[in-house]
Amino acid sequence: MLRWSIATVSMGGTLETKLAAAARAGFRTIEIFENDLTFFSGKPRQVRAMAEDLGLEIVALQPLRDFEGASAAMRARNFERAERKFDLMGELGANLLCICSSVAEDSTGDVDHCAADLAELADNAARRGFRIGYEALAWGKHVRDWQQAWEIVRRADRANLGIVLDSFHIYARKNDVAPIANLPADRIALVQLADAPGLLMDAMSLSRHHRCFPGQGDWPLHEYLEACVASGYSGAISLEIFNDQFRGAPAAAIARDGMRSLQAAGERLDADRAARGQAPLHISRVLPKPGRITGVEFIEFATGPSLATPLETELEGLGFRRVARHKTKDVDLYRQNDVNIVVNREQDGFAHSFYLVHGASVCALALRFDDPARALERANALAAPTYHGRIGPGEALIPAVAGVENSLIYMVKDGAHNAWDMDFNFLTEPHNPGPLDRIDHLSNVVRRSEFLSWLTFYKAVLGFNDEPQVELADPYGAFYSRVISSSDGGVRIPINIADGGATTASRFIEAFGGGGVQQIALSTKDLFAFVEHARARGVRFLEIPDNYYEDLSARYDLAPDMIERMRSLGVLYDRHKNGEFLHIYTTMFEQRFFFEILERRDYDLFGAANTPVRLAAQANEYDRNLRDRAMLETE
Ligand code: MG
Repeated sequence: MLRWSIATVSMGGTLETKLAAAARAGFRTIEIFENDLTFFSGKPRQVRAMAEDLGLEIVALQPLRDFEGASAAMRARNFERAERKFDLMGELGANLLCICSSVAEDSTGDVDHCAADLAELADNAARRGFRIGYEALAWGKHVRDWQQAWEIVRRADRANLGIVLDSFHIYARKNDVAPIANLPADRIALVQLADAPGLLMDAMSLSRHHRCFPGQGDWPLHEYLEACVASGYSGAISLEIFNDQFRGAPAAAIARDGMRSLQAAGERLDADRAARGQAPLHISRVLPKPGRITGVEFIEFATGPSLATPLETELEGLGFRRVARHKTKDVDLYRQNDVNIVVNREQDGFAHSFYLVHGASVCALALRFDDPARALERANALAAPTYHGRIGPGEALIPAVAGVENSLIYMVKDGAHNAWDMDFNFLTEPHNPGPLDRIDHLSNVVRRSEFLSWLTFYKAVLGFNDEPQVELADPYGAFYSRVISSSDGGVRIPINIADGGATTASRFIEAFGGGGVQQIALSTKDLFAFVEHARARGVRFLEIPDNYYEDLSARYDLAPDMIERMRSLGVLYDRHKNGEFLHIYTTMFEQRFFFEILERRDYDLFGAANTPVRLAAQANEYDRNLRDRAMLETE
């Protein structure tokens, strides 16, 4: 039967913790990595009992290394090593031993020699009722591609010897996956699954540090899975992920993310099959389809009494107007065209707790869905439970799930704009026209260790798509970004992480006490006019060095008065094909967040070329603030 599995190496912690985490996440099958046994204080048969208690089948033990094609001196010792593994398998109740292609310098790549070794090993295994799986490592001494491994398995010709397919090695070697469909199903011993980001590095480094769950990287795993399944293979499909960040995270969270990513992979597999008129496989539970996200209904700020005023001054400077007040709470609605910002000054409840931990910050994001009930049902099915908050008399009950750092993601019915009347009294005309027309994007800074987890959350749970990863320089380290977007592109959220303690993203995490929304980008049709008005109303923008404009005039054929206008206002510029992009950043609010105001002219990107300038200017601003504070303290 096709079923999902996870290798113990994918998780951190003790073997007991890993088994419990896998079972809790819904796995019924695991692969045991021998290292985990080495560090386990009990006997292997206790592992077997533990697994049985948790309802887990141990599908394989791995690895046996440097076996085939060994020198005459090593050969006898290798067979002896294999016997010890068989003893271990007997105690564990595992039936399959996985061998990876030899990396031994003195081994031979002679196909018949290797086939003879594996045939003899398979015969030894058969006497004990075991099977052998042979896998091509991308950095094997002679065998690196799955087709080579298959040729050896084919020539060895033993019923209990099969090939282990691992998407990591296959994609790292750019092997063709389509012919996998032609393999005899009973000769595929195991299918392993790992994704990786499209980084240019050697396969071994990529494997050891950057393997990730399906959907967290850049490889077309659906094509690989489709080919495996098309062969008629009907065994375990196992996540085998070596990743430092995974091992450092709680095993329960990693197992949950692994299951989420597999559920989404299974869903994609069945959707592709349905499109071809094929029956679904149902390896995953049937999930409610992701809701279609059509926009952002509101952004909610948690704030305290002393910070509310500067925040409101900033919002008013940007053209927002307080249009409504909550009927029962100390909560106001600021609005400008389609952009709703809720300012929550309550002294208890969710927003207040959030404020106490994180300071003035975005505590909730309300997404518009075509079918919020179905979106919630899906989230629940993928281990994202419904948040139950305190609801006052006459207040709308908006379903929500927990997002980054336990902020809330509300799920609001698309087009239900009259819902505001239920909770708010309007103080003025509800529509406030202004220069800012919509939320263009929101950036989330997350802890490096949680980056992939949130990617899976946004994609598998909420139904966002993602774009390739971008890497940029920060004056104090490195900065990585991956943009997720709704299916119509209307809601886009760059997820940012940083390496380096003093990077803007790291300072944010330190000041904020965790990840969260660092940037709110709002669009306008006339940025110059907007900036002139906003500056007149006292909004402060990031200072951009003159050198930036020197460089700009050298790079683009822009009119000198245009450059001068940008320089005098602090506006940044980018161009892609025929499109142009003008944008500007407000100074940092309490070291936590800032607004970007932008004007798109047939331009669909994010001005990444200017991100290093922004990061450097923010670093300068930060240093200046530190100096000013030090001066104040010495005065
Ligand atoms: Mg493998």
